Amino acid sequence: MQEQLHTLITLQELDNTINSSLRERKVLSEERAGLATEQERVKALVDELQKQIDSLEEQRAELSNALTRESANILRAENRLPEIKTQKEYVAVLKEIDTAKRITKEKQDQVKAKDEAIAALAEDKTEKDEAFAALSAKVAQRNAEIAAQLDSFDQEMAEKNEHRTKLLKKLPAAVRKRYQMLLDRRAGLAVVAARDGACLGCNMQLPPQLFNSLFLLQAIESCPHCNRLIYVNQDN
Ligand SMILES: [Zn+2]
Repeated sequence: MQEQLHTLITLQELDNTINSSLRERKVLSEERAGLATEQERVKALVDELQKQIDSLEEQRAELSNALTRESANILRAENRLPEIKTQKEYVAVLKEIDTAKRITKEKQDQVKAKDEAIAALAEDKTEKDEAFAALSAKVAQRNAEIAAQLDSFDQEMAEKNEHRTKLLKKLPAAVRKRYQMLLDRRAGLAVVAARDGACLGCNMQLPPQLFNSLFLLQAIESCPHCNRLIYVNQDN
């Protein structure tokens, strides 16, 4: 009986470290997911800026083409001037040239505005590019640390599980089943100590007779309140 109890206590201690490893593992996995999300967020900002720049560059190219067309119009009209015979036609061509020049001026102003907008966005993008590069470096470094930690967790976990299987095999099937059931139903805590007459699993007072019987180690007792398997540390 003493050996069974000892096995159960060792098993519970092992399961406690397994559960705490699993919790740490979860925290690390969540941290890794958080870093990936943050990286995607900054990348989306960079991509969005590039999209805006591309769109402005496209508009600028259209304006530039229009300017080339207007320059050709002006040149063509000016070349016609010496050959013009009538005053009416002359006025019409001059008006054409005026219009083309007015349009040219407008387009030039628009090109200037686009250039300014592009420059502002490019500056913003340079900053975001740098932020993204710095973040990526940080994420890569942290991910490497996390990967190493997860690897070592997995290695420890494999060893712990192997140990766990051995311990479980040492228990009679009924005790093993009870332990597993209590683990599931009592948030991973199946075996607990009793101290000063109370169960440390649920903190309820135990019947004095039950508490005293724990010192005799004649049977594996359970707490009447939470059903957990209870024991006393003989040293206390
Ligand atoms: Zn209890």
